[in-house]
Order: sequence, then structure tokens, then C-alpha cells
Amino acid sequence: MAKLEAVSPRSGSAPERRLGHYIDGRAVAGTSGRFAPVYDPSRGAITGHVALASAEDTRTAIEAARAALPGWADTPAPQRARVLFRFKALLEQHADELARMITLEHGKVLGDARGELARGIEVVEFACGIPHLLKGEFSDSVGTGIDSWSVRQPVGVCSGITPFNFPAMVPLWMVPIALACGNTFVLKPSEKDPGCPLRMAELLTEAGLPGGVFNVVNGDAVAVETLLADPHVDAVSFVGSTPVAEHVYRTASAHGKRVQALGGAKNHLIVMPDADLKQAAQALMGAAFGSAGERCMAVSVAVAVGDSGDRLVRELRALIGRLEVGEGLREGVDMGPLVTREHLDRVQSYIELGVKEGADLVVDGRESAISGHPEGFYLGATLFDHVRPSMRIYKEEIFGPVLAVVRVPDFERALELVNAHEFGNGAAIFTRDGAVARRFCHAVQSGMVGVNVPIPVPMAFHSFGGWKRSLFGPLHMHGPDGVRFYTRLKTVTARWPGTLASGPDFIMPTMK
Ligand code: NAD
Repeated sequence: MAKLEAVSPRSGSAPERRLGHYIDGRAVAGTSGRFAPVYDPSRGAITGHVALASAEDTRTAIEAARAALPGWADTPAPQRARVLFRFKALLEQHADELARMITLEHGKVLGDARGELARGIEVVEFACGIPHLLKGEFSDSVGTGIDSWSVRQPVGVCSGITPFNFPAMVPLWMVPIALACGNTFVLKPSEKDPGCPLRMAELLTEAGLPGGVFNVVNGDAVAVETLLADPHVDAVSFVGSTPVAEHVYRTASAHGKRVQALGGAKNHLIVMPDADLKQAAQALMGAAFGSAGERCMAVSVAVAVGDSGDRLVRELRALIGRLEVGEGLREGVDMGPLVTREHLDRVQSYIELGVKEGADLVVDGRESAISGHPEGFYLGATLFDHVRPSMRIYKEEIFGPVLAVVRVPDFERALELVNAHEFGNGAAIFTRDGAVARRFCHAVQSGMVGVNVPIPVPMAFHSFGGWKRSLFGPLHMHGPDGVRFYTRLKTVTARWPGTLASGPDFIMPTMK
């Protein structure tokens, strides 16, 4: 294993601050000499630089995880759970510090950063129950004097590759369950907001996790490709955009690993004419513009059924007028900036495209009043009406504060629309009609479904995942599917002397 120089995890002050990696229980500098800038999006200023790992740095982390595996896998599950109990307490103790870190690197408002952390902590709580979750199945006397039982054992060295939009929650969808199941882990977080994952690595060490069980390599495609191809990585969990998810799924599968790769989304919310339109519009505001639309469960399409369209657009326009856009750390701000200048340009280019495609631009976020720093990456809430399914602003994931209203005559057309879209992450309906809601839940082609709930993110003890091109692989994340993904099933069939059959048996064994 290459020796890496130990460093303070966040050495220096902005913009000279350097963030390295966390390998074998300590913060280390990389060997690549490559760095990426980290921004405070609310000011548009560089606040530091994060190391981009070389293949060698990444292999050092994999080696550390591999060396730590036998000891951690053999640690009894109740003892592993105790480390997670302490980790949960430390996350709560440092919640303000972590939330501030998220806001400063991502831009989302502080209350939202606290919320993401809370949802991540719920997965740690779930993983604390691992002794119960790993209980196997036992069958007494499957044949004369023969018993059979199944156990779930660790997969080995697991890796996680995570997106910028939830720097705490998405790693926490993976890491607590993987570790609780007895695996070791290499996390490659987003290079855009690496502070929080590095801090969580320190807190895991403080909680008593042995060195090498959890490692962080910061970086880009170089680190990712190394993780996907290295023969000592046994499982890959990915969350990010669909093209990268598909590439990760194909490449890691071709290298014989188990993979779960969650991709992009275009979540629809159907508004039926009988819905409480004020409530639906308010729900749409939070779902479309919370975290500046940079959520995989953000609602980016409102499907207005029958005569609900005009009333809905009127309500939305009024609510957008009251939306406060500004610095995420300031009290009373509803929506912060986008993550980078590049992403801001991309989202703005979709607004231009929507106009060219002939959609009605009801509210143009490029003209909104912003109470933030002029160099910040701000864009106000944007509303398009009369969007058609043939338009690119309907088909593609924009991942910004842009809401498209599509009008359809009836529920069946609305359902067809949702089901015909290439993505199937979340979908919701607002209605008072139980029969319509039931038909929607049954027939919609989507992994997570809401009824009068705009963002139906499952709790930690259920599993999170989409359908169609929103997820590659059979298993969802956290909850029961998380335990399935991070364990291998072993079934034992046993008998003891005294009940042994005499002589060799050349026919297919059947239980007598
Ligand atoms: P992204 O795909 O650009 O990056 C995700 C991760 O992959 C990062 O760690 C990044 O460094 C790495 N990466 C990027 N390009 C790569 C390449 N060419 N080769 C190898 N690795 C590469 O995604 P993002 O912009 O960080 O996050 C936003 C996307 O994530 C959106 O599409 C959003 O819908 C999706 N997302 C999905 C879910 C879900 O649960 N389905 C949750 C959160 C985010």
C-alpha cells in the first residue's frame, strides 16, 4: 500500500484551503497534484481546492478497506451497531456545523441542509438495528435428522459514488447499512461539496470505527473508473445523473461486481380538478423550488387535468412573487443559489430553449429580484405553461428551479403521460377521489408514489429507488433492499453423525 502524507483535513483558509482524502483512519494528501475548486455558491467565490485522486491514491484506499475487512466482518453485529449508535449521537451533536458546511458548499438554505442531515441520520438509526435485521431463517427437520438455515454475510469491499445535491444524505443512504452488515467502504463523493463527507469520516473514527473500515477518496472520473474496474471492489452503489449511472452499471457489472445505480428524474405531479388547488400550489412551490430544484425528487412537471390549469397557474404565479431568493445562511430565505456558474448557465439555457420551443414563459427567474451577492449563482423560480411532451424542456432533466405545466383533458391522459416518460423516480397526485388515487397508485410506472404528498421520499426503514431509466440494477437503496444489497445469502444444510445415511449416494439428493 502506498504511504500517503498525513494532512489536516481542511488545511489553510480560503481560497488556499486544501481538502484531501481520508484513508485508513486519517486525513491524507493525494499524490496526483490535481485539484478542483470548491465554491461558496452564494458569493460565487472559491473557498478552497479539493484533491482529485490518482488511480494510485484510489487503490491505496481500496487496499486499506481490504486490509480492514476480515476484522470488521468478524466483529459481532451488536458491536458494529454500537459504533453506529455513537456515530448517530456525534452527527446530532455536530448537526449545526455539518449543516453550515452543506450550505456553504452547496448553497441550499440552512433549514434544508438540516433536513437532509436529519433524513440521513434516520438511516443510521435504521442500521443500529442490524442484529435484528441480519437474523436469518431456520427450518427444523427438512429431512430426517437434517436442518437447514440461511444467513446473510458481508459482500466485502463496497464503494459509493455520490452526487453534489445531497452531500450528507446520499452517502448516509449507503454507508451505515454497508458498515452495519460487516463490509468495509470507499466513498467517492462529489468534488463540488466534499467537506461534509470528510467530516463524517472523522466522526466515524471518533465513534470507534477501526481504521480502514471507511475511507473517502475525493476525485473525478479517474477515481471512479479505478473503483469500477479494481478486482478488490465487490459492490458499487452510485447516485447521480442517468448517463453516468448507466456507464457505472455497465462497467462495474462487466467487472463482476454487484451494482445499484440511481439516475436522474423528471417527476410529475398530477393536479385533478377536485383537488384543493391552494394546497396543491403550495405543495408544488416547495417541491419544485426547494433546494433550487436540485433534488432528484423535485417536481419539475405539474400535470393540470381538466379545468384546473388556469387556477393552478394563477396560484403559482402569486406564490412565486412572494418567494425569497438569497443567501442560504440568511434567515427567511426560501431558495438559495445553484451549485456552480456552469450549472446556472445550463439551467438558463433551458429557459431560452423553452421560449424557442413555444412554451409560455409565465415567470422568468432570470428577472427575479435576488437579495444576495451579485456574484452568486442565483436564478429565481421560473414557470412555463402550455408545455408539450414533444419539447426538450419536458423530456430532459433540467435540475434547476424551472416548473413546467402541461395541460391534459382527463386523468387517463395524465397517467399515460407519466408512464410514457423515460424516467420513473417519483410521481404524485393531488385529488379528493379515492378511486382515482387508487388507480394511480396501482398503474403508475414509478418507484415512489405520493397521494396528496408531493415528494414521497420513503422513510429509512423502507427503500428508495425509481423505475425505468431512474435506476439500473434490481435493488433500491436503504431499508430492506439496502440490507439485501450489502449482504450475500448463505444457506446451510446439515446433519450430524448418528443420522448419516450409509454408503455413497449417486442420485440427486432428495430429503427423506
Ligand atoms: P453526476 O452524474 O454529474 O455526478 C455523480 C457522481 O459521478 C459524482 O461523484 C461525480 O464525480 C461522478 N462523475 C461525474 N461524471 C462522471 C464521469 N463521466 N465518469 C465517472 N464519474 C463521473 O451527478 P451530479 O450532477 O453530481 O448530481 C445530480 C444528478 O444526480 C441529477 O441527475 C439527479 O437527478 C441525480 N440524483 C439522483 C438521485 C436518485 O436517487 N435517483 C438522488 C440524487 C441525485
